[in-house]
Amino acid sequence: MAGLVNRQWLLARRPRGMVGAEDFEWAEEPVPDLSEGEVLVRNLYLSCDPTQRGWIARDTYLPAVKVGEVMRSLAAGQVVRSRGSRFVPGQLVQGMLGWQDYAVVTPQSGSSLVPLLPGVPIEASLSVLGMNGLTAYFGLLEIGRPQQGETVVVSAAAGATGSAAGQIALIKGCRVIGIAGGAEKCRYLTELGFHAAIDYKTEDVKARLRQTCPRGIDIYFDNVGGEILDAALAHLAMRGRIVLCGAIARYNDEVLAPGPSNYGQLVVQRGRMEGFIVLDYYGRAAEALPVLHGWMKEGRLKYRADVVHGLENAPAALARLFKGENQGKQLVKIADASQV
Ligand code: NDP
Repeated sequence: MAGLVNRQWLLARRPRGMVGAEDFEWAEEPVPDLSEGEVLVRNLYLSCDPTQRGWIARDTYLPAVKVGEVMRSLAAGQVVRSRGSRFVPGQLVQGMLGWQDYAVVTPQSGSSLVPLLPGVPIEASLSVLGMNGLTAYFGLLEIGRPQQGETVVVSAAAGATGSAAGQIALIKGCRVIGIAGGAEKCRYLTELGFHAAIDYKTEDVKARLRQTCPRGIDIYFDNVGGEILDAALAHLAMRGRIVLCGAIARYNDEVLAPGPSNYGQLVVQRGRMEGFIVLDYYGRAAEALPVLHGWMKEGRLKYRADVVHGLENAPAALARLFKGENQGKQLVKIADASQV
């Protein structure tokens, strides 16, 4: 489109160790004219997600981003132009729009573009009423299957996914213990109603789990893997379930660490450990979103957004996740919605 420049972050190389700005390359190009069926979206907010570290390292549940391609990212944006698609200018949408100012969505990739829920802040649409809320909802309810009165432990509990998982467990009548890094995050968990919070950076996690879960852990919602997973395994209750949501403690490792040494507890306690990917549940989003939205309106499901400003800061914002610097959902704001 005449005069519009698209600023982009391209993948420059496969990262080694901690992801950083040096793994990406800044580029600028004119925004192309649209072909029939295409939609031009102005990105407003980028979603920062730990899984992006995996997308640039290797093929996972999605093919790896190729070196030289625009960095893949969930984002929310506003339709600027539409040539014969079902989307209309001004409409707010989200999808895999990438680290760039403008995304051209083709009819082939158009199915990944979804309208935002009306009347919901964009920050919520990209977190508790979006991918993170769906992850917490289906991961806890379908894989964890909580029963009233059970003890649920959540790691990275003050984060976007963990805080939602813990609050849903509270809504389901469970005793909920959150594990997070630092006093401020632990204070936030108790404000949310968690029964206890463990600061893994200053406390002995194993000892605190013994103390706070006297009947063992019925469900461990694992966002971090590593030593905390081992500690949870050591304290699993009979028929305990471990929901493998993520393993952020390992995403920047160059060499795969040995598996959890305490896995034998699954045998002793007749336990189950199961992974899942939220994409498999997107077909059921219409079932979960009204429930999550209802809880949000009742004040039982809260969220925090941590907004970094400027497209140029996207790599640094992504790195914040792995340093625990984000207080809630990490987003990058790159533009305001305009009045149409
Ligand atoms: P968060 O908002 O939870 O941010 C990441 C948090 O992880 C940080 O704030 C930090 O919290 C914690 N963390 C970082 N490094 C470590 C470490 N070495 N040890 C322990 N904790 C660490 O991010 P998300 O909610 O987006 O993601 C949380 C997890 O959920 C990730 O593992 C992610 O991959 C997974 N996920 C899985 C999905 C699926 O479909 N299975 C979908 C979405 C997310 P702290 O300061 O407390 O250390």
